[in-house]
Amino acid sequence: MDLELLQFPYSTFNEKVRWALDFKGLHCPRRNLLPGPHIAHLKRLTGNTTTPVLRIGDRYIDDSARIIAELEQRFPEPTLYPEDAPPINVSPWYAFRLSGKQGEQAVVRMQFEDGYARYWPKISPDGENWIPLSEEQILVSDGGTRMEIRLVLDQSQLWIAGQEICNTAYYDRWIRELSAHEEVTTRLAGKSVQGRPVYMAQTADKKEMILLLGRQHPPEVTGALTMRPFIHILLSDTELARQFRERYKLVIFPMLNPDGVVAGYWRHNVNSVDLNRDWGLFTQPETQIVRDWMSEAGKNDVQIRLMLDFHSTTSNVFYTQRDIDDRKAAGFTRQWLTSAAERLPDFEFERDAAEPSDQANSKNYFHLTYGIPAITYETGDETRRDQIESSAVVFAEEMMRAMLQIQPD
Ligand SMILES: [Zn+2]
Repeated sequence: MDLELLQFPYSTFNEKVRWALDFKGLHCPRRNLLPGPHIAHLKRLTGNTTTPVLRIGDRYIDDSARIIAELEQRFPEPTLYPEDAPPINVSPWYAFRLSGKQGEQAVVRMQFEDGYARYWPKISPDGENWIPLSEEQILVSDGGTRMEIRLVLDQSQLWIAGQEICNTAYYDRWIRELSAHEEVTTRLAGKSVQGRPVYMAQTADKKEMILLLGRQHPPEVTGALTMRPFIHILLSDTELARQFRERYKLVIFPMLNPDGVVAGYWRHNVNSVDLNRDWGLFTQPETQIVRDWMSEAGKNDVQIRLMLDFHSTTSNVFYTQRDIDDRKAAGFTRQWLTSAAERLPDFEFERDAAEPSDQANSKNYFHLTYGIPAITYETGDETRRDQIESSAVVFAEEMMRAMLQIQPD
């Protein structure tokens, strides 16, 4: 495709289009316009004087928003817009790097189309360690649809993002870390629609197992920030954890939707399917991987006793079955969450217990198929990170204690 950008190098609207072109990996030579004479020149090409102008073949398109709409249509991957219109599960997130001179003041203005500022901005010197910006640095206006960030650069570059960046590299590192554990084997369990690896980690076969799922929904980063310390405790060298692993096999799928994470989706995999509405239907390779693994475990007489699925939402909440539905692990959920609450007086969370519905989510599927407690473990988007960590430790320990009290079949 023959592309050319007619631009002013210093205009932010021109910059916006350059970012879109870069993001989509499109090669596009740039031609700088001469301020003044550009007016007559552009009028001939587009009938307007707005910059930048993108030439696609022999067509000229002006206005950054129209250019991006055109690019989005012709080059849909990776997407700049939400993958659904109207968007499902509004979660506009952002991540970029600022560079400049030390001591320079930077102002970033964001506008959220089809959404609102859901994520509180976090900054990082290295893309690894993040802290939330302070309230004085942020101004949210127009019903949450605009956000302005003001900060002074205290080093030459700085990352800003809606949530910590937990991308495929983050999971690769985590998988390597898991495989270093002497009781854990990791393997490539299968591939996503676009051929990305879906990894799993497991401990040795036992008669009973616990299944842990993560990252079905791309922007739900606090779910990942919870799952990691949670699993760390299950694999730790304490008396409790050793006893627990003596009885239960652990099966872990840390990231089920790598394509969605890479594409920056709000909800889906690349086939526009919400994976957490595909359980039992199994139309997608990502959920099929878990289904196939489960049938293999069934052949080896491994019984599943608990499923936990890590997500994020606006607050800390456990979506569970009702106590009377806990047939195979009577009293587990109540026991688990009550004893955790006792140890966590400053951590606010709710249990939302409901009758199983016909929604094809993992919670309903695993409960209805195996009669086990199957729980969606949701961490708040802005729950303090130290609290995510310290509460995950307690939830992991109390889960192990409660599971050890269950009578084997
Ligand atoms: Zn979710």
